[in-house]
Amino acid sequence: MKRTLWSMLIVCYLVTVVLVFLFLNTYGMNLLEKRLIKDKEDLLVKEANLINSEYMANLYDKKLTQQEFATQLKSIDTYLNIRVWIVNPGGVVIIDSDARSNIPLISINEIDPTFLDKTISVNTRLGNVLKEPMLSVIQTVNYNYQFRGYIVLHTPMSSIRETAVVYFDIINICLLLFFPILLAIFVYIYFLTVKPMRHLIKAAMEYSAGNFDYQINMRGSSEFRELGATLTYMANELSQLDNYRKKFVANISHDFRSPLTSIKGYVQAMLDGTIPQDMQEKYLGIILFETERLNKLTASLLELNQLENRGALLDIVSFDINHIIKKTAESFEGACRSKKVTLNLVFASEETYVDADVGKIQQVLYNLLDNAIKFSHNNSKIKISTEEKGEKVFVSVKDYGIGIPKDSIKKIWERFYKTDASRGRDKKGTGLGLSITKEIIQAHNENINVISTEGVGSEFIFTLKKTVT
Ligand code: ADP
Repeated sequence: MKRTLWSMLIVCYLVTVVLVFLFLNTYGMNLLEKRLIKDKEDLLVKEANLINSEYMANLYDKKLTQQEFATQLKSIDTYLNIRVWIVNPGGVVIIDSDARSNIPLISINEIDPTFLDKTISVNTRLGNVLKEPMLSVIQTVNYNYQFRGYIVLHTPMSSIRETAVVYFDIINICLLLFFPILLAIFVYIYFLTVKPMRHLIKAAMEYSAGNFDYQINMRGSSEFRELGATLTYMANELSQLDNYRKKFVANISHDFRSPLTSIKGYVQAMLDGTIPQDMQEKYLGIILFETERLNKLTASLLELNQLENRGALLDIVSFDINHIIKKTAESFEGACRSKKVTLNLVFASEETYVDADVGKIQQVLYNLLDNAIKFSHNNSKIKISTEEKGEKVFVSVKDYGIGIPKDSIKKIWERFYKTDASRGRDKKGTGLGLSITKEIIQAHNENINVISTEGVGSEFIFTLKKTVT
């Protein structure tokens, strides 16, 4: 049989029914019988006390004849189904409430010498004196501080068993009524769980088939609604990842294809003589430029991949950020000179120590400064400053260049994103610099932000952890 939830619930139900039945009719029955025997015992003891206190004294005082006494005992026998024996100290039954038994002298000690030493005896037969097993209670009789014999009371064990069976019939009838209710509860649980489960399975199948727009409208228990919400969230994430993957592949192919097409075109033209020998140097220059671009693109992609895979593996040391800024600025001296851009370094203190990965932070500064110079107008200024606030050091790179259009500000951190203005201005850019920058800063658990106005300029600010001295 297929192990569906339904079949498992049915098996659970049947096992429950059988176990309850077996348990009640074995262990339960045993307990009930024990309890009934105890109750009967108490009744017999009470009866024996009554006979002892009410009748025995009257008998010895001769206020009651043995005949009258026997009649009293007979009525107890008839109405309460209790057989009473009065036994002399020698163990011989002298009065028997069961008149039918014509055994004039029963000598108990001869049949079972230990019987009269007990107070209670279960399943008593006393040889064959008693016709069926009895529950017996034995009490001694004393009068005037003298031992006068015993009172022995018997009641049939079968009557106790019969009472137990009557009780059990009632319990079993109740169970038979209860089992259909239990079945209804199991069926209810089934519908409560299986319906939403089917819904979730359908949703999961839709998502795995790529239909991320499939809507889950879950009702029912909060656990299923939570699972539905988690599945929807997962689908959204997958959908974003899917879109991102498509965009990524499209961008890469585009960015690789255009330089490759121009390289191929120029090489072919040179080979078939379309470009004359004396012009070849100019086109070889273009080919070199395009190869450099491809090189930069590959290096950036590798860098990003590495950051994603082992983003947390940073070599954190304490260093002077001002010194690193000065060193990075020096490497841009040539670029600044050709654009007549002045770099203005403003430090709050001479030395500012931070805890970070030097190499990576140098790369961040390089990317930001490279962009700032690239997007600055000729003869303008770039200000790089550091400022300490609490446990943080704020590093700012501010230019007075073309700025970023408002609707592009959020997108500049995306891979391959370049504003329209920069496509014309910066042919060498890959659109990966700021993605790398952001990954590095986030790997340090720090933040980077931009404030920019189109036509006015841009300021990139990031934080670093100040070294505690
Ligand atoms: P790229 O390598 O092409 O510079 P980035 O990721 O560094 O790529 O930058 C993405 C885009 O953000 C740039 O193409 C440019 O449009 C915009 N941008 C970055 N920095 C500046 C800046 N200082 N001023 C104006 N635009 C900028």
